[in-house]
Amino acid sequence: MRNILILGGTTEATALAQALAQRGDTAVLSYAGRVETPRAQPVPVRTGGFGGVAGLTEYLRINNVTHLVDATHPFAATMSENAVVAAREAGVPLAALTRPAWQPVPGDNWRSVPDIPSAVQAVAGDSQRVFLALGRMHLAEFAAQPQHHYVLRLVDPPLGRLPLPQTTVIVSRGPFRVADDTYLMREHRIELVVCKNAGGDGASAKLAAARGLGIPVLMIDRPVLPPRREMHEVAEVLRWLDHSANLGV
Ligand code: NAP
Repeated sequence: MRNILILGGTTEATALAQALAQRGDTAVLSYAGRVETPRAQPVPVRTGGFGGVAGLTEYLRINNVTHLVDATHPFAATMSENAVVAAREAGVPLAALTRPAWQPVPGDNWRSVPDIPSAVQAVAGDSQRVFLALGRMHLAEFAAQPQHHYVLRLVDPPLGRLPLPQTTVIVSRGPFRVADDTYLMREHRIELVVCKNAGGDGASAKLAAARGLGIPVLMIDRPVLPPRREMHEVAEVLRWLDHSANLGV
């Protein structure tokens, strides 16, 4: 019998969990535990880190996991690297369900940087109103550029003081619509959008809104990950699961 572990925290992971539940497959969805109120899921959920490669390898073995699907966010690089190594060590086939990166289209005004530290450097200069669309994890790094007014969109209300001196916080959970993001950027007089190249539809509205308003975007490229089997569609993962059961890969 197949016993699938999905590393989640994304809409893709939820979509896969739904598809597997509908087919009657046995699957567990794993969350890091960063969001206080995760969405209800149609399969059992486990929460919290595994304890590095060793912990994940042990989890795969103890729970007789037959297939590992890494459906984490493209910027969850540590988890994805750990998944590659642990899957190899436990002899469990791994597939990554990931979104293709966004590509600029005519009308976009993007500047790409390789990582968060480069993004922090790139916003040196005069004070601006910046839509910092990075979630809450990298806010402290932008304290090195305190001259800006940062508009933050967070899934949960922040606990305690934010590490940035001038902020407006919007608590909201995607998917977002272009009309709403256009309104947000107008309302807050945004002059620059800073975001990660997450890919997918759920968070792309801000790019269309920025394009429509002629606002520049500082785009943080994805981290480079070790080679792995990558898929972009839930249906592809389902086919791989069916196929690999026969081939033992
Ligand atoms: P990360 O830096 O790659 O992971 C740090 C550690 O968190 C991992 O080593 C692992 O701990 C634990 N972890 C991460 N994902 C996990 C999962 N699905 N299940 C169990 N443990 C997990 O990841 P991150 O960037 O902090 O992202 C954390 C979660 O948020 C991921 O599930 C990701 O899909 C989601 N997310 C991330 C972003 C983003 O921009 N980074 C955006 C949206 C959603 P151990 O080493 O102890 O196993």
